[in-house]
Amino acid sequence: MPKIRKQKYIFVVGGVMSGVGKGITASSIGKILQFTGYKVSAVKIDPYVNVDAGTMNPTEHGETFVLEDGYETDQDMGNYERFLNTSLCRESYMTTGSIYQKVIRDERALKYKGKTVSVVPHVPMAVVEQIKKAATKEEAEITIVEIGGTVGEYENILFLESARMMKRMHPDDVAFVLVSYLPVPNMLGEMKTKPTQLALRRLQESGIFPDIVVGRSPHEMDDRRKRKIATSSMLYTDDIISGPNLKSIYDIPNFFLTEKLDKKLLRKLHLRPKNNKQAQKNKSAWQSFVRKTKKHTNKVKIGIVGKYFGTGNFILSDAYVSVIEALKFSAAHTGIKVDIDWLQAQNYEGKNGKRNCAALKKYDGILVPGGFGKSGIEGKINVIEYVRKNKIPFFGICLGMQMASVEFARNVLNFDKAHSTESDQKTPYPVIDILPEQKKRLTKRDYGGSMRLGAHDAILKEDTLARKIYRSDSISERHRHRYELILGEHENAFEEKGFIISGASPDGQLPEIIELDTKIHPFFIGVQFHPELKARPLVPHPLFSAFLKASLSLKKL
Ligand code: GLN
Repeated sequence: MPKIRKQKYIFVVGGVMSGVGKGITASSIGKILQFTGYKVSAVKIDPYVNVDAGTMNPTEHGETFVLEDGYETDQDMGNYERFLNTSLCRESYMTTGSIYQKVIRDERALKYKGKTVSVVPHVPMAVVEQIKKAATKEEAEITIVEIGGTVGEYENILFLESARMMKRMHPDDVAFVLVSYLPVPNMLGEMKTKPTQLALRRLQESGIFPDIVVGRSPHEMDDRRKRKIATSSMLYTDDIISGPNLKSIYDIPNFFLTEKLDKKLLRKLHLRPKNNKQAQKNKSAWQSFVRKTKKHTNKVKIGIVGKYFGTGNFILSDAYVSVIEALKFSAAHTGIKVDIDWLQAQNYEGKNGKRNCAALKKYDGILVPGGFGKSGIEGKINVIEYVRKNKIPFFGICLGMQMASVEFARNVLNFDKAHSTESDQKTPYPVIDILPEQKKRLTKRDYGGSMRLGAHDAILKEDTLARKIYRSDSISERHRHRYELILGEHENAFEEKGFIISGASPDGQLPEIIELDTKIHPFFIGVQFHPELKARPLVPHPLFSAFLKASLSLKKL
């Protein structure tokens, strides 16, 4: 591996409360440093004990973001990949569980040579080692390390200790940013700094003295408040940065430039801006993308039929964040504004299910995303039947593609009770079935990191929609699934009715893309993989762009 002359690190920690956009702030910091000409990468640390994010409930935890190498990580990793326009490696993500697992494995392998293995320093040292390994593998000159959780809580103490140890080892190469919350209580109408002052104290108790404080708030911070925070710490007013809510998260790097955060951070790291040609190009490409997000001439209404929207009266779209962002990128590049409605799959099943489908007429396109388990499945199938018959543009992702195949088997080929064995183990027509090697894993209750994961190649068939969209005969996309479309002896019957397998694994064994003949339906495509994971602001995904264009051109006026 090539050696980077000097690796620098910026630790980003949170104060006051979680959920204030620490990940987006950290990604934006990475972006503005990229603009100065440095190679920037990111590491995300989650304090929970789960070894990775693959086994977590999407309603509770949001999307699982799968990396190229198949590692199942937190959705924040998606933000880093999208902002930095890079693919990260598995070393870029860690949890309390994964770190302890590593330390225990090393102990069992006698790597500590008989020494007593202690929580401190051995656990934080394992964290430090992994951060350095990630930086080296990514060939990063600057690595942003986001520590999940908030200062003062029990869970992330060992990670803060790792950050402190790194500063002690490399005093000139490590900087700290505290991202804190500044409330504006209704009854006062004034921005309050006290919670941030207390967070600063808690951070200092851990032996960490921040170099920069970013104050997240609905509004911009004035000088008076900047001064208050500065005087309660060892910082200058200049080191206190405003982080107001903006209409688009992709505008945040630009705002930070007006606060000169790029120059300030480089100074703390003893670096000078490189300002090379590549950096200039990168910056103007980003600015032009941000401009495009604000300019649209046309509009389409898209319904997303999902099942992880949270509970009660609150609709949370966190489980589908990459799908939403992928739509936004294609929207910006095609000049089409996307209006998204969240549709609960469960509302389209049962007694009134089919009747409720009639209301889908108002959508210019319907997207059915991925998912697991039985809930909402019949609703998804009913929706797909409606959009197929009514020629509404359809885009199915993973479970969405699987259910499109089930719907076709049931309603076009009259394979009564056709299904996926994930939902009905006794179905007479298991058009979607588990792969033999996956079956063995499930019998052993081996659920962690054991699906078909990460990047796999596919070959596209000539004269198909897929081939036209990708403008290529071979592709690579990221996967996360246990079940597969297996048509076997029925393949010809499907084909005769216009159901085409337009993409498959290089050995021809695993279908990757299905579509309906354009003579039957103007735009009906389903993919076994997750194209949303590779969509980037500067590189929109062709499938999402094609879906929006089809929705616009078939729009009912
Ligand atoms: N549950 C399905 C499977 O495991 C689909 C997975 C998905 O949509 N990510 O194959």
